[in-house]
Amino acid sequence: MTELATPPVEREQDVKRISHWIGGHLVEGRSGRSGPVYNPALGTQTGAVDFATPEEVDLAVQTAREAFESWRAMSLSKRTAIFFQIRELVHERHEEIARILTAEHGKVLSDAMGEVARGLEVIEYCCGIPELLKGDFSEQASTGIDVYSIRQPLGVVAGITPFNFPAMVPMWMWAPALACGNTFVLKPSEKDPSASLYAAELLKEAGVPDGVFNVVHGDKVAVDAVLEHPDIQAVSFVGSTPIARYVYETGTKHGKRVQALGGAKNHMIVLPDADIDMAADAAVSAAYGSAGERCMAISQVVAVGDAADRLVKAIENRLPKIKVGNGLEPDVEMGPLVTREHRDKVASYIDGAREQGADVVADGRESAPDGDGFFLGVSLLDNVTPEMDAYKDEIFGPVLGVTRVGTYNEAVRLVNENPYGNGTAIFTRDGGVARQFQFDVQAGMVGINVPIPVPVAYYSFGGWKNSLFGDTHIYGPEGINFYTRGKVVTSRWPDPATSKVDLGFPRTR
Ligand code: NAD
Repeated sequence: MTELATPPVEREQDVKRISHWIGGHLVEGRSGRSGPVYNPALGTQTGAVDFATPEEVDLAVQTAREAFESWRAMSLSKRTAIFFQIRELVHERHEEIARILTAEHGKVLSDAMGEVARGLEVIEYCCGIPELLKGDFSEQASTGIDVYSIRQPLGVVAGITPFNFPAMVPMWMWAPALACGNTFVLKPSEKDPSASLYAAELLKEAGVPDGVFNVVHGDKVAVDAVLEHPDIQAVSFVGSTPIARYVYETGTKHGKRVQALGGAKNHMIVLPDADIDMAADAAVSAAYGSAGERCMAISQVVAVGDAADRLVKAIENRLPKIKVGNGLEPDVEMGPLVTREHRDKVASYIDGAREQGADVVADGRESAPDGDGFFLGVSLLDNVTPEMDAYKDEIFGPVLGVTRVGTYNEAVRLVNENPYGNGTAIFTRDGGVARQFQFDVQAGMVGINVPIPVPVAYYSFGGWKNSLFGDTHIYGPEGINFYTRGKVVTSRWPDPATSKVDLGFPRTR
């Protein structure tokens, strides 16, 4: 009986240690510092992740540096064969990876499966690396002179990733980086780090040589060590805007190439001629999927004219049907938030919005399941205006705001005046207006009757304004560009007229 009464968090044997991965094996951290990892659906601590010191980061970088020359020199056909093997293993272990995500992030299993599928697309794109690395060739640019371009890897590159896509976002980085011939140091989110270690083991099994892919866990100490390390050539970052800005400024100050993707406040405009049921379904899945913890989540609907009443009603009607609970249960559609602190912060926006004059149509605290999990039900706020905190901040939770405006122009102005510019969407039946929207709107990814316009793997992903620091979007062609540098060769061979080889016909240049 006493045994049952003991909360699991206090039983050390239930808390697994999560260590670094350097040179093809686990390396226990020596800093004496670690962070808790939770199962958010149960509210219990399941892991303790080691936090790296600068010396441990340096060990990973030096290991990656040693592995670079031979990885870079490996033929494209061999590297491609390894990538096909990675593809097979991720495909085969799809559900196993998804279960790790659900256990530490909380997202429902079907959503976690979707995350792995989107990451897999990027790996599949990288299976075409011989095609992607092809250069250009200009014969006879000048008499007897040919000019051609090649792209070569940078060396050791690093990735720093957020909690919300613990498998997919690292894949956005390591897949193109390794395919291009770089070696890699990953600093994953300390909140859900296990998927990165799983990836490390899987890459080893697929034939990636030891030292080519390394994982160091940690917090600001590890991030700063990455940003300041002289042997890291490039840093990819995905996370919140303040940290993205910091990573960009610090990394570039230390001479690195940096792409830093930040936060978002994605608006979905619904025009009066839209299919309201379609728009309501889209708003519900895009706002509450993954408990709103997606950088491409819709957090603000902008309802134009008489679309507003119909749309708010249609969304409200759908809310009671969303089942919130443990993501491993088959019929659950929305899981918990990642930590208790984050859940409480998200919930605080509901009262804040009410105090600032919004109408709370649904309060997620009233529909949250019982138990110790970090749950919050779905919330809907109507009559949200741009001065309110619920409008200005990236809430990053299952709270959808509705702002009412009179015209298309007012709606687009709201999107364009917003400091973020990640994704946006318009719902309308009018192709001409949709085309105008695509022309007018200041955001990196635009959906037309598509609420979450994440580009397929053969395009690149990235926002504008405070959603991206640096000029290169991630994965796709821009990813290949980011992880390589160009070299142009201008070549002249001695005039064949001077050759000792008898060609049997007159030689001219
Ligand atoms: P976060 O910025 O808190 O953390 C991201 C990474 O930065 C983590 O690895 C973390 O350890 C590290 N970090 C945190 N604080 C730091 C500090 N003070 N100094 C140095 N490093 C630090 O982000 P998060 O909460 O893990 O993820 C959610 C955020 O990521 C949201 O803002 C979301 O919009 C954004 N995001 C953006 C995209 C995109 O593509 N633009 C994709 C996914 C997530």
